[in-house]
Amino acid sequence: MGKKARSPEGQTAASLACEATELSSRAPVFAPGSVWLVGAGPGDPGLLTLHALHALHEADVIVYDALVSKEVLALIPEGTARVIAGKRGGRPSPRQRDISVKLIELANQGKRVVRLKGGDPFVFGRGAEEALALVAAGIAFRVVPGLTAGLGGLEYAGIPLTHRDTNQAVTFITGHMAGGGLPDAVDWQALSRASPALVIYMGRRHITEIASRLIAAGRLGSDPVALIANATLPDQQVIETTLEKCAEAEKKLPPQVPVLIVVGKIVRLRAGLDWLGALEGRLLLADPLDVKRQSEAG
Ligand code: SAH
Repeated sequence: MGKKARSPEGQTAASLACEATELSSRAPVFAPGSVWLVGAGPGDPGLLTLHALHALHEADVIVYDALVSKEVLALIPEGTARVIAGKRGGRPSPRQRDISVKLIELANQGKRVVRLKGGDPFVFGRGAEEALALVAAGIAFRVVPGLTAGLGGLEYAGIPLTHRDTNQAVTFITGHMAGGGLPDAVDWQALSRASPALVIYMGRRHITEIASRLIAAGRLGSDPVALIANATLPDQQVIETTLEKCAEAEKKLPPQVPVLIVVGKIVRLRAGLDWLGALEGRLLLADPLDVKRQSEAG
């Protein structure tokens, strides 16, 4: 047997790459004067879709967020124009309106414009607002979904979004409003009761407030919490903590990096499913919820 990498199905990596190229050659035509809103995924470039990769190669100009990882940006061909469109909590960033105006301007110059956004463009990413601005300006657009951080990031942390023994629902929440405060529209009381698993985006700045509202709404201070920083990137960091201790734990994370807050029993499954940790020697438990012991006792 040769030394080429083989997938479990016995296909060589080279033939997989050929298929990827073939798929990409059947990809939609990127018309000049149009905008593609493209999801860059949570960071690991391997999590980009083939459509996203195709878009990066076809674009004349790429307008990207601060959240897009340098690993993904490295896939942009040299010579393709890049425009940074900011947005990272705490730092000054261009106004949303200015970004939309820029996209319209570039499209009207006949460019193929990629608007590259971290995660998925339509999940807490203002992609819908930008798309509506394009509609108002009569500019053709396409959406290329990306893997949202609340999904891909949790999986790299070894936390499943659902498990039969822990939750039948999961809620994605934003912990931050455009104006900087905690969103008034989030009914923490109702969420606390109705959703066993909460995945909070942009919650870092208000973590103390979020934890105390959840406890006031009836969640236990001992409820498991995970803080996931730089999910899917080489410097990913995960802290397992509890609701009453999470605000303190947050301070141990580096400043200015994206963080997800996960609340609920799903976090306990990490003891069995931290596959990345296992690759570095962590011993995984086959029954992290102690279901067997509990059923024997019952
Ligand atoms: N559209 C993006 C979310 C944008 S909101 C998506 O679908 O993922 C920005 C928030 O997303 C950050 O504050 C953080 O909570 C979360 N986030 C995005 N990428 C992340 C990453 N690699 N690690 C941890 N959190 C991330």
